[in-house]
Amino acid sequence: MNNKCLSFWLLLILFGSTLHVSAQDAPAREITNITGDLYRVTDNAHRAVFLVTSAGIILVDPISVDFATWLKGELAESYDVPVRYVLYSHHHDDHASGGAVFADTAILVGHENMNPNLALVADDPVFKDVRAPDITFADRFSVTLGGKTVEMIHSPPSHSDDSSIIHFLDERTIFGVDWVNTGRAPFENMRGGPVSLLIAANRHLQSTIDYDIAALGHGPVGNKADVDDSIRYLEVMQAEVMAGIEAGLSLEEMQATILMEEFSHYINIDVWREQNIQGTYQGLMGE
Ligand SMILES: [Zn+2]
Ligand SMILES: [Zn+2]
Repeated sequence: MNNKCLSFWLLLILFGSTLHVSAQDAPAREITNITGDLYRVTDNAHRAVFLVTSAGIILVDPISVDFATWLKGELAESYDVPVRYVLYSHHHDDHASGGAVFADTAILVGHENMNPNLALVADDPVFKDVRAPDITFADRFSVTLGGKTVEMIHSPPSHSDDSSIIHFLDERTIFGVDWVNTGRAPFENMRGGPVSLLIAANRHLQSTIDYDIAALGHGPVGNKADVDDSIRYLEVMQAEVMAGIEAGLSLEEMQATILMEEFSHYINIDVWREQNIQGTYQGLMGE
């Protein structure tokens, strides 16, 4: 192939792939009402929530600079009050990036472990857009704005040690991310240590917070019974993997036989079941 011919093909590949990327990567974004003045915003697989009050908007999770910039524009078109608070569910970049977009009007709030966690990843470019919180708290933080109260409550460590549940009191709704699910398999290998920690964090939520709606960081909107069902998923998996270990099965044998069929309707169970088993196995083996 001569040079001219090569550049033609290179151009075709470059042009073709650019077209392909722009068509495929347009994010699926949508704002839907949860209840009252509480809204859920979808950004592909990720979700944020915001509460509108007469004195301003309370947003949970800015997700990314691009998403936050888009959302800021949408909110400015629909409401004559700015975002006054950005609450962080936890420090992970795919939920907490973009907070600076709202920093001109908003106070950023997160659990106190966010700061040491962000210091550990200060050199990681993936976290470059995660702005540290202006205010941190240890156990509980209450925001009252325009007559509405939202509580952030630190969750027992599991997926991260700086996770909070956000409780919209009047709306009887909770928002939590990655360690709590409804109608969806947990993500990949459920990073964050033994599955028993995930079960404990979820049980703590169920026993301490009175709510009806679970509008979480991924997946469909559910209710308190759906969270119970996802706890059962974790418990069944833990029991089956423990039995497998006791029977001397290898991880691969467990992945081939622990099918979790009663949860086959869960989103992404076909994608993540084997990794869920791997994470459960590694946690039980102390790996
Ligand atoms: Zn996370
Ligand atoms: Zn997530």
